[in-house]
Amino acid sequence: MKASFEKIKQLREELNTYNYEYYVLDNPTISDFDFDLKLKELQALEAQYPEFFDANSPSQRVGGMVTKNFATLTHKSRMYSLDNSYSLEDLRAWEERIQKVLGVSEVEYACELKYDGASINLTYENGSLITAVTRGDGFKGDDVTANIKTIKSIPLRLRNPILKNFQIRGEIILPLEGFEQMNKVRIENGEEPYKNPRNTASGSLKLQDSAEVASRPLDCLLYHLVDDKSPFKSHAEALEAARKMGFKVPSTLKVVKTINEVFDFIQHWSTKRHQLPYETDGVVVKVNSLQHQAELGYTAKAPRWAIAYKFKAERVPTLLEEISYQVGRTGAITPVANLTPIQLAGTIVKRASLHNADQIERLDIRVGDTVFVEKGGDIIPKVIGVDLSKRPANSQPTVYATHCPECGTALIRKEGEAQHYCPNEYGCLPQITGKIQHFIGRKAMDIDGLGAETVVLLYKEGLIKNYADLYHLTTKQLLPLERIADKSAENIIKGIEASKKMPFEKVLFALGIRFVGETVAKKLARHFKCIDRLFNASFEELIAVDEIGERIANSVIDFAQDEKHRAIIDDLKSQGLQFELSEEALAGRSDKLTGLTFVVSGVFETLSREELKKSIEDNGAKVASSISKKTNYIIAGANMGPSKKTKADDLGIPIISEYDYLELLQSKNKSTEI
Ligand code: AMP
Ligand code: ZN
Repeated sequence: MKASFEKIKQLREELNTYNYEYYVLDNPTISDFDFDLKLKELQALEAQYPEFFDANSPSQRVGGMVTKNFATLTHKSRMYSLDNSYSLEDLRAWEERIQKVLGVSEVEYACELKYDGASINLTYENGSLITAVTRGDGFKGDDVTANIKTIKSIPLRLRNPILKNFQIRGEIILPLEGFEQMNKVRIENGEEPYKNPRNTASGSLKLQDSAEVASRPLDCLLYHLVDDKSPFKSHAEALEAARKMGFKVPSTLKVVKTINEVFDFIQHWSTKRHQLPYETDGVVVKVNSLQHQAELGYTAKAPRWAIAYKFKAERVPTLLEEISYQVGRTGAITPVANLTPIQLAGTIVKRASLHNADQIERLDIRVGDTVFVEKGGDIIPKVIGVDLSKRPANSQPTVYATHCPECGTALIRKEGEAQHYCPNEYGCLPQITGKIQHFIGRKAMDIDGLGAETVVLLYKEGLIKNYADLYHLTTKQLLPLERIADKSAENIIKGIEASKKMPFEKVLFALGIRFVGETVAKKLARHFKCIDRLFNASFEELIAVDEIGERIANSVIDFAQDEKHRAIIDDLKSQGLQFELSEEALAGRSDKLTGLTFVVSGVFETLSREELKKSIEDNGAKVASSISKKTNYIIAGANMGPSKKTKADDLGIPIISEYDYLELLQSKNKSTEI
């Protein structure tokens, strides 16, 4: 027993260090594969010895907790906003005010970038993360701890507890690369792309399913250590200590001695910012000395010792030479502006997105116009307006494409949808190859050895017409093809064979049903359990499923009713793909507890906390992370948190043991049997 605890402790420490090296230092020292092995080892041990449960174990970062209502928590000290400045004159005036209050002629400043995301207040007690709360109205915010724990660069336990009890503030951001990756997937699924990284980051904090948050590449950059009895003399010193404790404090932070050096910092980053991996919309200048900060204090809304300087959004005019149309795998048409190449935000821009027909009409964008191009969150810039003074006299309003540029079929547009579609699913090249490419993708069937270009090659050679044809390929057919070596032919066939084991939810996602992304596929698979039940479901049955709306329901019905789809699926079935949830996934599932919400607290005897939560969810109920009026039962084990107990008593919510729970499940059994 002792030995296993030692092993658990050791694995937790090791994994914490690997996370720190990878996500904070950006310097991994272990392969992803070996990391996963260690994590699995830890998970197995934790399941075997539930008495060693630790809410801050690195295994908790995968998420899985579902929160319906986020509890409101009061900030120990208020979260202020910042005063803004837009010019160097504004900054000079600010400096004068400060010097006057402090009665000094020289002030040291800490210059930081203004990270563009959502602010968060982290509270540590005894070196462990206790709560993470959003800014809210500055006085009170939402308790989003379960979601925040999935962000790997945030230490759950401090590496070097210079301080033990304190609060620290930072910005939850979504780095550009991750944001684009997320949007790529959405566009491929026929979903509207997210608007910008900031909104997506702040929206992520309020997602109910923390596993979904864990799948998003969020990061946290720290900028303020709140500590009443701070042993530090300056802001920069405090942040240096935070860095040593394991937090990600950007190295762009710079201490300077004059306001002119502040200007230099602003000038430098006003262009260099485009090379950063995340978005920044300005600079925050802070008086460095904590003594000076205390003397300056706060206005009703912001500290007097800090000021933000906002960068101007870079937008440039250029000529719109042509509008072309791209066809996605679901047939969705995206209009693209082809521009006279122009330098913007550090890169040369030739093309910009025009979104859809409505956008073109609303901005009255025409070929021959001089348009303004801006780089928002996306790497793909967008056209944001027209310089009407430069419009040529013979200019004509844009007539949106009526036919597919790839196959010539007349485009259609469904009511209420923004995008036009090419309906020629089986005769339009980018749709055919796009669907197969989606099918083999990493998040779908994950077929090793087969790439996007090979798919096009196989299609052009007449070897495949749809994804079911992949399962009829033979090494013999592949070998004569140029560009495919013996070895890779074998790997392709092996990869295709291996994909037959992919679980139903992945297969469902791989089918490429419009609006059925990864999460929706999971929900549908869990609810209907097999493809036949899903495809025979009525509109009413579909929209009765949690989070399934009319748009998705109609899309599933359309897909299911298509004879060609049915034939392809029959073919895939006969090849042995998984079209129902496995026995394992089905075991112990029911709807017995539907409508109930549980909160789980403490350590249990008969089953691990994770098993208990899984059992609750498998039987149709919800697990919430915090107690609210909506909670029906609290299942308490040993060491239930005292604050939870008080809250439960206040709200009069019954506290039951794990045995009571199992009995409840049993009794529900009986009543449903009768
Ligand atoms: P505003 O929302 O415009 O009032 O600006 C204040 C917000 O800027 C704070 O709530 C923080 O979330 C955010 N912020 C981003 N970077 C920093 C930084 N380096 N220092 C302080 N606040 C920052
Ligand atoms: Zn077409």
